[in-house]
Order: sequence, then C-alpha cells, then structure tokens
Amino acid sequence: MKENQIRIERLAQEQNLSDEDFRVLWQTMDQEDEAFLYAKAREACQRVYGREVYLRGLIEFSSYCKNNCYYCGLRKSNAHAERYRLTQEQILECCDEGYRLGFRTFVLQSGEDPYGTDDRICRIVAAIRQAHPDCAITLSIGEKSRESYQAYFDAGADRYLLRHETADPVHYRALHPPELSCENRKRCLFDLKDIGYQTGCGIMVGSPGQTIDQLLADLHFMKELGPHMIGIGPFIPHRDTPFHDRAPGTLTDTLHLLGILRLMFPHALLPATTALGTIHPRGREKGILAGANVVMPNLSPAAVRGKYLLYDGKICTGEEAAQCHECMEARIRTTGYEVVVSRGDWRPEDNVPSPHRTD
Ligand code: SAH
Ligand code: SF4
Repeated sequence: MKENQIRIERLAQEQNLSDEDFRVLWQTMDQEDEAFLYAKAREACQRVYGREVYLRGLIEFSSYCKNNCYYCGLRKSNAHAERYRLTQEQILECCDEGYRLGFRTFVLQSGEDPYGTDDRICRIVAAIRQAHPDCAITLSIGEKSRESYQAYFDAGADRYLLRHETADPVHYRALHPPELSCENRKRCLFDLKDIGYQTGCGIMVGSPGQTIDQLLADLHFMKELGPHMIGIGPFIPHRDTPFHDRAPGTLTDTLHLLGILRLMFPHALLPATTALGTIHPRGREKGILAGANVVMPNLSPAAVRGKYLLYDGKICTGEEAAQCHECMEARIRTTGYEVVVSRGDWRPEDNVPSPHRTD
C-alpha cells in the first residue's frame, strides 16, 4: 500500500492523525490517494447513517448585519447590499411549505440583526415549535450571550450553527475587525454545546491567510469541541468587500477536507454546502461522494434570495422552494444516495437515533 493510503487507513482506524501525517497527506495527496480517501469516508459515513442524505430547509430571514467581517457580502459597511427582513408570518409560511415538501429541519439564518431581539427570536422559535412539533429547529444567527442561547433553547430550538471560521487567534484577527474575537466565538460554541444544542462549527476552506498550520489548529479545536455538525465550504470573494481580489478556496481542498473530517468525525453531520455548489456545477454531489451527508436547499421566498449574498455568484437565487427541492433530490439520486423525510438527528456512538423532542 502507498504511504498516503497507510495514513488514510490509520486515520480511519484511529479517527485522528499526527500533525506530521496530516501535513504530508495534505500536501502530497494524488488522485489515487484521493479516491481511496473518499471510499473510506463513504464507508465510515454509511456505517453510521447508511445511504441517507438529510435535508435542511434554509430560511435566510434577515440580511441586516451589525458586524463587519472582511469576507462577507452582508457586512454592515457594504452600502450596495440590499437589506430585507422577513416577518414571523413569512417565516412560518416558509416552514409550512417546507413541511409539505418533506423537510423536517428548518435552519433559520441571518446576519447579526439588532432587530432580532431575544424576545422576537423566542417568539418565532416557539411558533415554529408549536406548528411543527416533529421538526428540528436550527438557529444560525451569530454570537450571543449564554443567557440568550438558553432562552432560544427553552423556546424550542434544538440545534445551532456557528462556524468558528478559524481556531487561530492571529488568523481570526486577519479576517475580522477588532471588535470580534476568536475567544468569544469559541466561548459561544462551548456554551451552545453545554446548554444541550446539537452544535455545528466550521470554516471556509482557503480563506485569505489560511495555511496548513491554521487547518491543523482547526482540527485540534474541533477535536476539543466535539461538534455534532461541521459546516465547511470554499471561501468565495464578494466584490464589495475588502477581500474582493483574493483567490477563492478550491474544490479539491474542500473535498479533501470533507473526506478527512468524515474519518475524524464519523458521527458528524457534514453538509455539502451551497458554496461548494457555487464553485463547481456538481460540487455538492462530489461533496456527498467525499463523505458529506447533509444538503441545505433554500426555502427563503424567491423574492429575497438574490439579496442574501454572502459571496459572488451564489447559486439557487432564482428558484421557488419546490424547484430547489426537486433539483436537489434529483442531484442526490445521481450519487446513489437517498434523500429521506427525517429530522436527521446526530447519532451517538451506539448508533441509536437520539430521541425526538415532542414539546
Ligand atoms: N451571521 C451568522 C450567519 C450568517 S453567515 C454568522 O456569521 O455566523 C454564515 C457563514 O457564511 C459564515 O459563518 C461564513 O463562514 C460564511 N461566509 C460568509 N462570507 C463568505 C464568503 N465570502 N465565502 C464563503 N463563505 C462565506
Ligand atoms: Fe454578519 Fe455573519 Fe456576514 Fe459576519 S459572516 S458580516 S456576522 S452575516
């Protein structure tokens, strides 16, 4: 067996790699190694989740943001960004439509919009919880206090996505203005997990200034956190941001990292993201075949989709929810996997699905 394949085999067995093995693997992986990695990753995923791919209905409910992350098209200093906010009623309509289509998880994502007070968020969560008691509610609305996270959880939210972006404080500083800190981002993630959320962290692959050392720091941080979900996608520049002229992350690096993460975290829910679908027409399918097991079709009203632009060239901004859903099902079928009507909860070590909340 080739040396890299021995490394991959070891990674599959031990669910970890030494820094040195990771460095060599990352820098010298050829096409044969890559095929071996993806086959091992699919095997690991199938042992826990079978050939199921889980759907998350993404509702982008506000494009206002008080933050100024250097990479993001929604940053407050982007005067060209079109801003909108959905009403509670509109959000509920998206969920109802999603439910009819077979979604059992709703992901509510937004910029850090001061209008979204804890009271308003809790009311929205409680209304969805009441209307769809059999569904999971995921929030992705940024950094909050522990008390706020607890309040959303008590209102009925069960999952939270907060990419840590980079685990290296110096790199974090290069991606964000001084008022945001790596330390607080990590604090948020530990609080979320401690409260009882199924918690997702993640990074942009190829973000400006990212090196193999930062990737290593990310892997170490993830092992420490023990996330239930890990969202990764390529960095893609946005024309109206300070990083407008930086190179995007690559398809290859993103797929390699998906495969490695699957072997390091066999139980994790790993999305094949919209950003991956944006840099390659079959990016999401390739993601599934490299070890991902989640896709997140858009449920936002077609009228606002073109306004939630984190990066340039974002796909799926023209379709209605039903079209998006149908397109996604067809795409997944081409991979030999199957989209299921299920909450798609994280599965613990003994492989028994976690109990569904019924409150
Ligand atoms: N405001 C919330 C959620 C919306 S942003 C938050 O920041 O957590 C969701 C994710 O989009 C971010 O975590 C970031 O990783 C990703 N993102 C932002 N700008 C991007 C870009 N230019 N390319 C790729 N991903 C980007
Ligand atoms: Fe706001 Fe999130 Fe974009 Fe940062 S990444 S500017 S917090 S929407």
